Amino acid sequence: LNPHHSHNELDLSSTSPTGDKDAVVNLDHGDPTMFEPFWKESGQKSTVVISGWHSMSYFSAAGAQLCWFLEPSFAKEVRRLHAIVGNAITDNRPVIVGVGSTQLIHAVFFALSSSSSGEPNQQPVPIVSAAPYYSMYPGIADLLKSRLFHWAGDASTFKEGGNSSFIEIVCSPNNPDGAIRRAVLDSEAGKQVHDLAYYWPQYTPMRGPADEDIMLFTVSKATGHAGTRIGWALVKDADVARKMVKFIEMNSIGVSKDSQIRAARILQVVSDGYDLPDSKAFAWLRCDDESIKDDCEGFFKSMKVLTRSGKHFGAGPEYVRISMLDRAHNFNLFVERISSSRGLG
Ligand code: PMP
Repeated sequence: LNPHHSHNELDLSSTSPTGDKDAVVNLDHGDPTMFEPFWKESGQKSTVVISGWHSMSYFSAAGAQLCWFLEPSFAKEVRRLHAIVGNAITDNRPVIVGVGSTQLIHAVFFALSSSSSGEPNQQPVPIVSAAPYYSMYPGIADLLKSRLFHWAGDASTFKEGGNSSFIEIVCSPNNPDGAIRRAVLDSEAGKQVHDLAYYWPQYTPMRGPADEDIMLFTVSKATGHAGTRIGWALVKDADVARKMVKFIEMNSIGVSKDSQIRAARILQVVSDGYDLPDSKAFAWLRCDDESIKDDCEGFFKSMKVLTRSGKHFGAGPEYVRISMLDRAHNFNLFVERISSSRGLG
């Protein structure tokens, strides 16, 4: 990272020394601005230009699909990034886009508590999470004092009521303590929601692809673009997915196309960064020219480049192994010498 990038007009924490002394350091919000220098380095690659006529419709090109406001380019980059990182299985489940994962949490509470039969006397479904839990869950659950669901606190002390249903939200790695979690309640009556906002390699070691029924992610934490307000859900059950889409339709008639296009580009830049050819530790070369194939090692030695003959590896003298682990300066000298050598075409 370029050290100059940490001193700029946006960086309020790096003002004058006296300013620093009196500055209030606000570490209350989980605002992911630490990634700003990274994105400044990425320059044009992550810049998005959207023409005036573009994305004007409520509908997206995926209009016929379950999530009719989902930008196909965004869905494609979500699946691609999960495949590269290996943190979630995306096969056989639709991507549902939301205004941050916050809207998806509202949507999933609605979807899991509204029965298709629409029983009029349904008791509000309790929603629990093991303490310490993300501070927004109780507020999101109780905001509208819904007849469908209500906040019921700490999952560890929750008393299940026979077969009455409940929802457990499992955040892993957990906000606030970073713990790796599984559901604490295990009964047929419970439905689980996995908030995997922090299941990315910059926060925690990867433990293989998550394969939960309902998984929530957000660009806020994946790349730091909290202001873009884009999250996504991977949902196995088609009925639950449909109800979540219904919620978003009623709540905001879909999700900003502009934001989805920007998020798609941001995810693409991350994936492109990993999609490089393998950089191996050694080059394994074969000398094909008649004049040198009996002693490839000797050929390189005549250029003052020491290699290891294939003979030491149970292969023939036409092979050499060349280390690519040396300092850049030495490696560049090697490249210069072979480029000007007559023996190589
Ligand atoms: N879940 C967890 C665990 C979070 O920490 C946050 C953000 N603090 C969110 C969901 C919501 O993120 P957003 O709405 O920005 O996607």
